[in-house]
Amino acid sequence: MDIIETPSKCHPTLLFKRYIDDYLIITDDRDTLDAIFRSLTSQDRHIKLTRETPNNGWLPFLNCEIRQKGGIFETKWYKKPSNRNIMIKVESHHPIKQKTNIIKVMEKTASNMSSWQHRKEAVSKTRSIIQKNGYTKEWIRKTKQKNRDKQPNYKQTENQTTLAVPFISDETSNIIRKSLKDMGVTARVVELKGKCLRDILVKNRGFENICERRNCRVYPQTKIGSCNIKGAIYRLKCGCGEIYIGETGRPLAERINEHFRAAEKPLTQSYLNTTWSKHAKSHHNSDSLSLTLDIITTERNTTRRKALEATYIKDLDPKLNTKEEINELVNIFGTLQKT
Ligand SMILES: [Zn+2]
Ligand SMILES: [Zn+2]
Repeated sequence: MDIIETPSKCHPTLLFKRYIDDYLIITDDRDTLDAIFRSLTSQDRHIKLTRETPNNGWLPFLNCEIRQKGGIFETKWYKKPSNRNIMIKVESHHPIKQKTNIIKVMEKTASNMSSWQHRKEAVSKTRSIIQKNGYTKEWIRKTKQKNRDKQPNYKQTENQTTLAVPFISDETSNIIRKSLKDMGVTARVVELKGKCLRDILVKNRGFENICERRNCRVYPQTKIGSCNIKGAIYRLKCGCGEIYIGETGRPLAERINEHFRAAEKPLTQSYLNTTWSKHAKSHHNSDSLSLTLDIITTERNTTRRKALEATYIKDLDPKLNTKEEINELVNIFGTLQKT
């Protein structure tokens, strides 16, 4: 960012702040501001900035709006108009503690972000969001009351052993707490969230597993993270449509890249004995082959994997697997016959 910002720093500013890709810049006059904007946008053709001007004196920046009035800065809590103000609904299956904490944090943020003149307005804004999500005044009052009653208990057990239980319902957790207490066990019960659909369906660290092998052919064709799978049965398909079924207990990319290298350079001395070299010679005039990879399934147990491979070979009848490979499997499992 230094390279982009430094040229603009020659202009005098009253305030120059940036958070990731959001700038807040205050200058004495408009010309200086224009010059800074031009400078920031002209450093790199890939960086395009848009500009917001104050609305009634208020300028939004991150989660607050700022106004300069009579030489004094005023702030108020801000939510983008596009924000749909959705939070955990009151009927949602979450511990009550979590819901009350969200409300508490929102109220605190709204209040802390706002100058004293605007604090009341901000807090009432949080109220309307909370209500929109189903939390009635009655619910908040009751829960606050309950929490207050429980407070001393919580403090007593703060330094005790912790017992982590899956969250089923607040009632269940309370029964567990009570039972422990009845048995004279001083333990703090905390609730753990179970696996939810999002955990199963969303992968948010997708790029951590990008393969570091030079020229790897596996991850561009499969899901990121497949390169290091140990114990896979795979199908390689030549451009002409013929297929090869294989299995490996090594990291998948190590084995697959060997196949690809042989397929791309079928005339290289060391590859002459491979399936690909032979196939290129017999069907493709010894040209390079372009292969596509599919992972059929994964199985770490070697015996089970070989058995699975044999059934796939029987079902899919791959023309490129050699007789020797098939015979080896037949010997292992006896009954398999090519039909
Ligand atoms: Zn890879
Ligand atoms: Zn082919």
